[in-house]
Amino acid sequence: MKINEHYTEIGNNYLFAEIAKRVREYKAKEPGKQVISLGIGDITQPIAPAVIEAIHRATDEMTDTSTLRGYSPDSGYDFLVQAILKHEFTDRGIHVEADEIIVSDGAKSDTGNIGDILSPDNTVAITDPAYPVYVDTSIMAGRRIELLPCTPANGFLPSFPKQKTDVIYLCYPNNPTGTALTRGQLKTWVDYAITNRSLILFDAAYEAFISQQDVPHSIFEIEGARQVAIEFRSFSKTAGFTGLRCGYTVVPKDLTAETSKGEKISLNALWKRRQSTKFNGTAYIIQRGAEAVYTPEGQRQTRETIAYYMHNAGIIRDALESAGLICYGGINAPYIWCRTPDGLTSWQFFDLLLDRVQVVGTPGSGFGPSGEGFFRFTAFGKREDTLEAVSRIKSLL
Ligand code: PLP
Repeated sequence: MKINEHYTEIGNNYLFAEIAKRVREYKAKEPGKQVISLGIGDITQPIAPAVIEAIHRATDEMTDTSTLRGYSPDSGYDFLVQAILKHEFTDRGIHVEADEIIVSDGAKSDTGNIGDILSPDNTVAITDPAYPVYVDTSIMAGRRIELLPCTPANGFLPSFPKQKTDVIYLCYPNNPTGTALTRGQLKTWVDYAITNRSLILFDAAYEAFISQQDVPHSIFEIEGARQVAIEFRSFSKTAGFTGLRCGYTVVPKDLTAETSKGEKISLNALWKRRQSTKFNGTAYIIQRGAEAVYTPEGQRQTRETIAYYMHNAGIIRDALESAGLICYGGINAPYIWCRTPDGLTSWQFFDLLLDRVQVVGTPGSGFGPSGEGFFRFTAFGKREDTLEAVSRIKSLL
């Protein structure tokens, strides 16, 4: 037996494990001190009552043989697909069809698993810094990676790859930088992909946090994108499903690739084949919960929660800027990306904040080499923690 040795090439110290370890060690050393975390991008606010009520109703259906549900249809229940189609795409004038929406257990699995239907020979371009799944899963598959630096110098707009690239991961609004692309900027990438016959894997997990008019919610708002892009969406940040688990991937039927024998293959069909072979569907109860996000109450309640998080984002950004830090993001995404003060490395700033004011954030270098010298704060905290954390940081700087 041989293992897939590419797994030995990915870093052992997963970023959040290292953070947790340092916090644990600090707490053991200073048991009386209260540590506040503005680190992980996980929810702190209750899930919308409309979603919870739908989950309760769906759970009750499981007690009766006439309403009981077992395995879900491979691509998701029609009630959820139709709700997604109407609210996310059709009502916004975006051309997507029902059989192009494939429901899943979240964007992490899909952004990682999509590589299953692509050749290991493909070259992959990934923005740097990035959500770690794109790099790690590309390494696991043995693909050659080109990083595309995103820094203040280029306004966080990556340059096109230097080498011919088959696959490009883009995530906008972006984790970790909190920055977004305008329609015009995203169009240059769609045009690039059309000219170079590349595939764009577009992660739109944070689209619900967009506040500016010229920022696209979907890559399919851009002309030509149906020929070159797959889009990943998630209920995790939109509606607090990080623990419930539901997302979906849009694979347009216009998207095709040629086999080595010159045969045209639909990526939509291939992804459905992959999912029906390796995935047995998202729980019925959870899909009913996701459907309820699109009821009038669900929409109102989830928007209120997003507004709460984005108010935190404003508090963090204003406070850090008034303390002299240079900050980015926090306008179309729940993350604030700061330059570390006094030329500190990301981990030096992490240790300083933990040691001196007991505040935890995420070192930018954990998201890729271009993240060195930056630090990410999340807006997903509780309001009182956010206020206390920024006041402590201000007292330090
Ligand atoms: N994509 C990005 C950019 C993320 O930041 C995250 C989670 O933090 C995910 C995907 C994962 O989403 P899900 O919870 O749907 O797996």
